[in-house]
Amino acid sequence: MEQREFKCRMCGACCRIKDGIVRVSDAEIARIAAFLGMGEAEFIARETEVAPDRKSLILKSRPDGSCAYLTDDNLCRINPVKPDKCRTFPFEWTNPDSAEVCPGLAR
Ligand code: SF4
Ligand code: SF4
Repeated sequence: MEQREFKCRMCGACCRIKDGIVRVSDAEIARIAAFLGMGEAEFIARETEVAPDRKSLILKSRPDGSCAYLTDDNLCRINPVKPDKCRTFPFEWTNPDSAEVCPGLAR
């Protein structure tokens, strides 16, 4: 994806992508669990589910597709330790419809 001017508008749209998933690695599980004051096994049981392709664990979503960590004011409840995928959107991690999802990308 070409590098465009970007300013995050704090809209939370990237955390509400319908059918979007956020995979978590072992290292991400460890750091998020520690941040939340949980053991890793408890975190995995309570806060993750198996990805549709069964290749990894993913963060849980709400029925409307939004991430379970998105607050009502569009903030990330685990921001200091959020997964790399979230940290690098919409540049290093991206997908074909990032430009449609993210109003922070200059058109
Ligand atoms: S969709 Fe783009 S502008 Fe909106 S919160 Fe996510 S990164 Fe920021
Ligand atoms: S972990 Fe945070 S940044 Fe990532 S999708 Fe969930 S609310 Fe958004």
